[in-house]
Amino acid sequence: MSITLKHMSKSFDHETFAVRETSVSIQEGEFFVLVGPSGCGKSTMLRMIAGLESITAGEIYINGTLANDMPPNKRQISMVFQNYALYPHLTVEENILFGLKVRKIPKKEQKKRCLEACDMLGMTEYLKRKPRELSGGQRQRVALARAVVSQMPICLMDEPLSNLDAKLRGQMRTEIRQLQQKLGITMIYVTHDQVEAMTMADRMMVLKKGEVQQIGKPLDIYNNP
Ligand code: ADP
Ligand code: ADP
Repeated sequence: MSITLKHMSKSFDHETFAVRETSVSIQEGEFFVLVGPSGCGKSTMLRMIAGLESITAGEIYINGTLANDMPPNKRQISMVFQNYALYPHLTVEENILFGLKVRKIPKKEQKKRCLEACDMLGMTEYLKRKPRELSGGQRQRVALARAVVSQMPICLMDEPLSNLDAKLRGQMRTEIRQLQQKLGITMIYVTHDQVEAMTMADRMMVLKKGEVQQIGKPLDIYNNP
């Protein structure tokens, strides 16, 4: 599914803009990265696309349909956060299947999707564990599995690797790219890390103080900073 932003803006105080006049078309199956320093508006933009934050001005289209007032659960979007957002009292399996339960997906189908996702992410042996019994990398895999089983055509990730050490971060970058390609989903990935943006993006948007500095392929941006 494609995502188009037209002059999208956000002001929290009716005075300054957290996001200002952003326009871009993100293609189906594209790995699109939002990059820039802390406070430049990345999370706000992601939250507006997810429907978790209202839009002050402009439009967002999901697959050509105006989505400004579409509720989050109708947008066909899954999300992965930096802090994993796992339920501490639930097992890995229950965490992964929580959203499917809410959507009343049949039990058999839930099990099937869970096993497939855990197989891809190497988490099959941890299904009965609680989040506190897992390492940071394993917790992030649970959060990824939860996005995978939702089978949403769009995935938004907000700094998903910043709590991990450098070695694991490198490994997870590759895993996330492979997963995204295998599933053919449209990805919008937020990071403050230039290297991460350059190594993962099909195209990237460089933000500064809520304004778009550049949009392009990593090599083009690298050659014309
Ligand atoms: P980033 O994700 O790039 O770190 P954010 O989108 O979190 O940036 O923040 C962009 C700007 O909007 C910052 O100046 C921040 O203080 C402000 N901001 C974010 N969320 C809120 C909010 N709920 N209320 C008021 N200001 C906010
Ligand atoms: P309870 O046992 O009271 O039903 P839960 O197991 O549903 O609690 O959740 C435990 C805690 O984890 C709660 O404080 C909840 O706010 C938090 N939590 C659960 N899911 C999420 C999520 N997706 N994002 C952020 N926090 C979450």
